[in-house]
Order: sequence, then structure tokens, then C-alpha cells
Amino acid sequence: MIGGGLAGSEAAWQIAREGVPVVLHEMRPVRGTEAHTGAGLAELVCSNSFRSDDAERNAVGVLHEEMRRCNSLILTAADRCKLPAGGALAVDRDEFSAAVEAALAAEPLVEIRREEIAGLPPAEWDEVIIATGPLTSPSLAEGLAALTGTDALAFFDAIAPIIHRDTIDFDVAWLQSRYDKPGPGGGTADYVNCPLDRAGYQDFVAAVLAGDKTEFHDWEKSTPYFDGCLPIEVMAARGPDTLRWGPMKPVGLTDPRTGRRPHAVVQLRQDNALGTLYNMVGFQTKLRHGEQTRIFRQIPGLEHAEFARLGGLHRNMFINSPLLLDPELRLKAQPRLRFAGQITGVEGYVESAAIGLLAGRFAAAARHGTTIAPPPPTTALGGLLAHITGGGDARNFQPMNVNFGLFPPLSPDPGRHADRKPLYSRRALADLEAWRLISETAR
Ligand SMILES: Cc1cc2nc3c(=O)[nH]c(=O)nc-3n(C[C@H](O)[C@H](O)[C@H](O)COP(=O)(O)OP(=O)(O)OC[C@H]3O[C@@H](n4cnc5c(N)ncnc54)[C@H](O)[C@@H]3O)c2cc1C
Repeated sequence: MIGGGLAGSEAAWQIAREGVPVVLHEMRPVRGTEAHTGAGLAELVCSNSFRSDDAERNAVGVLHEEMRRCNSLILTAADRCKLPAGGALAVDRDEFSAAVEAALAAEPLVEIRREEIAGLPPAEWDEVIIATGPLTSPSLAEGLAALTGTDALAFFDAIAPIIHRDTIDFDVAWLQSRYDKPGPGGGTADYVNCPLDRAGYQDFVAAVLAGDKTEFHDWEKSTPYFDGCLPIEVMAARGPDTLRWGPMKPVGLTDPRTGRRPHAVVQLRQDNALGTLYNMVGFQTKLRHGEQTRIFRQIPGLEHAEFARLGGLHRNMFINSPLLLDPELRLKAQPRLRFAGQITGVEGYVESAAIGLLAGRFAAAARHGTTIAPPPPTTALGGLLAHITGGGDARNFQPMNVNFGLFPPLSPDPGRHADRKPLYSRRALADLEAWRLISETAR
């Protein structure tokens, strides 16, 4: 196990619980990162919240519940160190980290070694999990780049907002590819287009310029790789028409309601294989989240948009998992190496730990000479896993939070006005139980 963060700690715990010995290599305090401040395992680098604990109406709450049922160390420690935070699961970060570390230290099958694994792990290590997170040490990052190719390794999240398709108003928006050009799948109507007239465009640009934005940390400012993905507010500041010649260009598109080319267009592209999520093309931004919701709902067709995730731009190392990993999180090119945590392209403390949980179980099963099936995609664990190991678009892969858009549609469809969230949740927890029964009795 390389990395003793959220994912690494969870994976080591799961491995030991399966009766397999594990060595956990954590480089802190020998070598630090730009964001961690201490030496503790599972340090929360920023917020102290694991977000909503509502297992009925919130996808991350469902993920909490699934992880609890899978004997998660991270969730057990979080529950024990819980602070009052309304519907959220927030923790005392020092107590939480200490609780995780104490549990692992007390586990006879876990050996904790404080050392950096510089470069790729030695060839004789035949079952390795790399969970070194968004701030992977440079020497290991270089080793990985040599193995995966630099195109498949990113050092920045340049996240454009992602919208639930069923909240787009198709009385205004329409499907069309620029110049009706066939895409890789052969379709000529692969994009959702939202039209803006001159006044609407000018108002939009003004709102983007005036909107409240977040700042880069000093250590993020020095990270290269940034010119190719300028935030929309930086483009807007370069001139009133820069966006119209950039991501909002209307050429090759005809609004079926007017029969004319609009003044500007916002395009959305399918983001997952299920076709439930669409990302706003070229709309990476450092606008604050509340501002994004307010301003992007000014766009015709997106007045009632629900966002699966909002845009952002920050330092984050992750691999192109849909391209590189098999369904058990192993590197296709070198299956002795398995990945877990934020480096796989999930986003968030809970999601990172969740992928650690699965990687640990897969690795333990491999040591026992067996395999376990991945959890079904109808569960939060399975939906997240399916997204990073194939469902996400490898051409445009960006980190993902758990959300109901990752769940396959309900069958039978409960109808347009149904309250879907509790239905997704109930299905997820029932399917998780079935999976647990099969995978835990199989060993
Ligand atoms: C600045 C910042 C703020 C964030 N804020 C939030 C937030 O508020 N909420 C949220 O949900 N998510 C947040 N995230 C995203 C993400 O959830 C966290 O980064 C999370 O900690 C990821 O878990 P992980 O286990 O993948 O990585 P980490 O928790 O970072 O663990 C990786 C571990 O690997 C170690 N390591 C690295 N390289 C090596 C090496 N070569 N050898 C040995 N050990 C090594 C590191 O020291 C670290 O302990 C943030 C990320 C960053 C960068």
C-alpha cells in the first residue's frame, strides 16, 4: 500500500480484515506535501466534512451507508469523531486521524512504514496499491508518467460544470454537432446547444466578469499545464467577444426555432456512458459555486438545470482511469499495480476512501487466489467504480463526485413527476446487500 491517506488507510484496513498481511508506506513526516500539515494517517487537508449523511435523498449519504455496511474504517472513525453539523457528517479532524491511525496500528496484519516510495515500486512487489493522492510526490509522479504516458496523467482539475440531462429544457436547447459533422460514434447530433442572442450574451459576459471568484493557492500558481484550459472569466476579461470566438462560438449551428445561427452558444457534451450527465464544454471556471449556479441558470435552456458537479480549477494529479484501468482497478499495462483514491479520478474524501475500500477487497481476494465481482452499478460504490473504469469519457476525463447521475435509470421508469432520489437509494442499498452476501460468502 503506497500512501496512508483516506484511500490508503481504508484499503489497508480492508486487506487486513480479509486476513492478508499488508505494508503501508506513508512518506509523511519524512517528506511532506504542499497541503498536509502533520504526520497523521488520513489527514483531512481542507474541510472537516464528509458532506451529507442523508442516505435517502443524497448520493454521498448513500455511499456513507454502503461503506458502513462494508465495515469501512473511515466511516467508523468519522462516526466516532462526529461533530454537530446539521445533516452533514463533520468530524474533529485531529481525533479522526488519530482514530484511523490507532485502528491500523492495533491491527497485527498491518505494518506502517514511514518512507517515500520514490519512483515506481520495485519490480518484485507483485500486489501493489498506489493511493498517493492529488499531491503524489514528484519522483513517483514521474515514474507514473513514464508508464502511462504524460497524456494520460493530469496535474490540474479543469472541471467544467456537469448537468443532469433531464433538467435541460429541450424546448429551447437542441441536439446538433457543429456543421453536423459525424463524431466518433457516427452521430451528427452529439451536442446539446443552448442559444444566446446579443443582449443575452452581453449580460452573460458581464455577469461572469462581476461574479465572485476563488483564488489560487501560492503552490498552485507555480504548477504549469494551465494555459490550455483557461477559465471562462479569464477569457471574458480578454475582450467582449473572446468567449464568442472560444467555447461559445456559434458557427456551424442552426437554432431550429429561428432557422438562424444564434449570436453565441453554450454547448454540452455527454459525460457518461449512461447519457444522464452532460458537461458544459470549455466552461472550466473559478467562479464560486453559488455564483456558478446563479449565472449559468441565466443561459436559455438551463434555467432549471441541476448540477451534478460545479466547475473548478485546482492542482490535482490523476490518471485517465477509463483508459488505463481494468474493472478491478488494475493498470492494464502492468496488473501488479492497482490504484485507489483521488488519483483514480474520483473527487472527495468519501469517494477516495470508497475506491480504497474496493481496491483493498480486490487485492485481498487476489492474494487468496480468488476474485470478487465489482458491486453492481446500481449501488453508489458500483456506480462510482463503473464511471472511473469505463463509464467516464476517456477523451474528456475529469474527476467526479458521487451523484445520482452515475446510477443507471430506474426500471420501470417511475414517471416524469416521481421523486426519484429515494428510489435510487432504496435500490442501491438492496443491491448492495445482495452483492455483500455473494462476495462475503464466496471467500
Ligand atoms: C488542497 C486540497 C484540498 C482538498 N479539499 C477537499 C475537501 O475539502 N473535501 C473533500 O472531500 N476533498 C478535498 N480534496 C480532495 C480529496 O478528497 C483529498 O485530496 C483526499 O485526501 C484524497 O484522498 P487520497 O487518499 O486519494 O489522497 P491523500 O489523502 O492525499 O493521501 C495520499 C497520501 O499519500 C502520501 N504520499 C504521496 N506520495 C507518496 C509516496 N511517493 N510515497 C509514500 N507516500 C506518499 C501522502 O503523504 C498522503 O498521505 C482536496 C484536495 C486538495 C489537494
